[in-house]
Amino acid sequence: MRLVRYTLDPATRPTAGDGDPAVRRATVEEMPVSAQLLPPCTPSKIVCVGRNYAEHARELGNETPKEPLIFLKPPSSLIASGDAIVWPAISQRVDFEGELGVVMARRARHVRQDQAMDYVLGYTCVNDVTARDLQKSDGQWTRGKGFDTFCAVGPCLTPKEELPIDSIRLRTRVDGVVRQEGSPREMIFSIAAIIEFVTDFMTLEPGDLIATGTPPGVGSLQPGSTVEVDIEGIGVLRNTVIREER
Ligand code: MG
Repeated sequence: MRLVRYTLDPATRPTAGDGDPAVRRATVEEMPVSAQLLPPCTPSKIVCVGRNYAEHARELGNETPKEPLIFLKPPSSLIASGDAIVWPAISQRVDFEGELGVVMARRARHVRQDQAMDYVLGYTCVNDVTARDLQKSDGQWTRGKGFDTFCAVGPCLTPKEELPIDSIRLRTRVDGVVRQEGSPREMIFSIAAIIEFVTDFMTLEPGDLIATGTPPGVGSLQPGSTVEVDIEGIGVLRNTVIREER
């Protein structure tokens, strides 16, 4: 059972909450052909883990972190599968980062690792789109990671009971060419370890999204590129890059 949120009204924004009358929920099979996908969750915050795959830390010349490296993306950065990633006029380099997304089921605070999975609803695909030049030059990541359209999520949510997380593979393709391949097994910090670390300083709410870090192979997009994050058992998150008009 794969769960989607969708709308039949093209004016509905990707950040629309479940209180919006245009928002519908269904399984993938029940969704009308003419529907437009929305992100499968409505997070109050998007918690991201940096450098959670050793090979990815190395490829950008970074040390392997001793504890989870946490940053936030704003909910205003959310888009769904099929929406455009907008290349900001002020950036020269925009990268893809395909990641496994974890959606929380209930409020979590000071949760220990051995209980952590009880708080998880399910999984989705995330593209942690990054203006790499601004991330580096700013010295912190809020702008480089936080542009509108820089958090693509979807296409659906697969309940945790239905996804064997240790045996799945994640692939990112750009214009059909595989650029990233990895397994959550290779993460330095497990989902449970991340939840323990994060809930020691922050309350996670139902629907909150954790982007668990990207495997090696990150690289640059171009205006016109189509980028796909493909996780077995979830589906393909597909977005095309357009240049900002202003
Ligand atoms: Mg990332």
